[in-house]
Amino acid sequence: MRFPLRLNYDLATYIISNKINKIEKYPLVLMLEPTHLCNLACSGCGRIREYADTIQEMMSLEECLHSVDECPAPVVTITGGEPFLYPQIHELVAEVLHRGKHIYFCTNGILLEKALEVMTPHPNFTLNIHVDGLEDTHDRILERKGAFKTALSAIAKAKEKGFRVCTNTTIFKETDLVEIEMLFSRLEELGVDGLLVAPGFGYEAVGEKLFLERREIEKKFIDVYEMSKKHRFFSTPMYLRFLKGEKKLECTPWGNPTRNPRGWKAPCYLITDTHYPTFAEMMAQTDWEKYGVGKDLRCAQCMMHCGFEPTVVNEIGKSWKDMLEMMIWNMT
Ligand code: SF4
Ligand code: SF4
Repeated sequence: MRFPLRLNYDLATYIISNKINKIEKYPLVLMLEPTHLCNLACSGCGRIREYADTIQEMMSLEECLHSVDECPAPVVTITGGEPFLYPQIHELVAEVLHRGKHIYFCTNGILLEKALEVMTPHPNFTLNIHVDGLEDTHDRILERKGAFKTALSAIAKAKEKGFRVCTNTTIFKETDLVEIEMLFSRLEELGVDGLLVAPGFGYEAVGEKLFLERREIEKKFIDVYEMSKKHRFFSTPMYLRFLKGEKKLECTPWGNPTRNPRGWKAPCYLITDTHYPTFAEMMAQTDWEKYGVGKDLRCAQCMMHCGFEPTVVNEIGKSWKDMLEMMIWNMT
């Protein structure tokens, strides 16, 4: 099975209970950013640029856990910045797992090998390592010589210790897909459990040069979709069909709410109009109708997983064909 039984069960029961209780808007994945501090300055990173003024700020452990308690999402993505720079990261992971949540832990891999010395695998815990290409490309995008070797060595170590590991690859305008396929084969040789892909989002703070526009994304993802038949992708088939222009999806901006040192970021993980002090205020006071493709100019080129994978989850129940596709995909 592609995803652990426990994760499938917890997600399914959570979704069904929301449907029974007629709750229309509910979060699936909490994006928790205890700090935006990072040991890298990647070319495509919106976070370290948008939050440059508050980059030294950190949420307290209590604030992090209160946010996890406020937001009912069964999955918590711990991200940043680089979460290993958060001083109480191991306490945070232990407490979130203790609450029965599932963790996807996003890291650039630089500090991972050292951290593994004190970490133990847990069935609800998945490491998600950012890998954007083979050695030259990855090191260039991350602007750090040796970043690729460090990340791959840490991945090998994590697999040796029994961790569930996936990788996250951003497809930019200049991304060479032949190279990406070679990268995926190499990662699979190391025992990586799954591969996530997404087109880069054109953050205002980064500038437009690097990023694909909607038509270019659709063209590039026709080939990525073919790759997904040969490699173990974690990105869902419906999302990939959306990326190649075959399936129409509306964005679900509340699906992956983001909490960071400034508060609950609205309307979504990618664009910021304000921060709210509580999750409940963010959900109630955001005018969700204002956002999405065709409604807000900043959304025009967006096809990011944080906005559209939650839509996939909602869509599955609507068609037997889609449900069957997901079941077969998940079982293989
Ligand atoms: S590692 Fe992540 S948070 Fe750090 S600069 Fe790169 S993309 Fe941004
Ligand atoms: S389309 Fe993208 S940028 Fe716009 S609200 Fe949705 S996720 Fe955010």
